[in-house]
Amino acid sequence: MEKNAIRKIIRELKKNIILPSDYISTLENQVFSKMEMLLEFKNSRNILMYHSLADEFPTRNTIERWARERNIFLPKVVGDDLILLPYSRQKLATGAYGIEEPTTVTPVSPSQIDLIIVPAMAFDSWGNRLGRGKGYYDRLLSQSAATRIGIGYDFQLLDCIPAEPHDIKMHYIFTPNCSITICNQI
Ligand code: ADP
Ligand code: MG
Repeated sequence: MEKNAIRKIIRELKKNIILPSDYISTLENQVFSKMEMLLEFKNSRNILMYHSLADEFPTRNTIERWARERNIFLPKVVGDDLILLPYSRQKLATGAYGIEEPTTVTPVSPSQIDLIIVPAMAFDSWGNRLGRGKGYYDRLLSQSAATRIGIGYDFQLLDCIPAEPHDIKMHYIFTPNCSITICNQI
């Protein structure tokens, strides 16, 4: 199936899934507590998260929690690129696509980041990722040697996603009920 056809299906599925907020928090905890077991997490200082929109896998409680012990960064859309800014709860403003972005001013280089939490419309168990179609994360991830961890709901994990040469694979994918480690990556 083509990328756009899959995006359309996932958008429809998201519309039809309405979860109570305390259950959403439970799912967030399930995913991130599994991630905290990884050696790559234990060894990380600088973590790039994403500030979740209502239709994305939730991250906000975890950002708060991790920010007490780690340096958390969030992306800000600047033209075709994402710049990476330090997170501070008091310094957020709504930016492109309605995403909460830091108003802090000094970006960090992607090479400084140890771990990247990557959002998606869908993943497959080979590590392929389907985004919203603008390629922001492919461009960012191509400049970084960080561990790449895709997260999503169970319904976002599909059998097979088409991949193009510019698509960057994940190292790990976590959903509430699946933990996948992707081996044999260049
Ligand atoms: P997404 O990853 O958001 O699902 P795609 O993989 O379909 O989106 O990529 C969208 C567009 O972004 C592609 O047409 C591609 O040309 C562009 N793109 C992706 N990665 C790069 C890159 N490293 N350099 C230049 N353009 C890129
Ligand atoms: Mg892509």
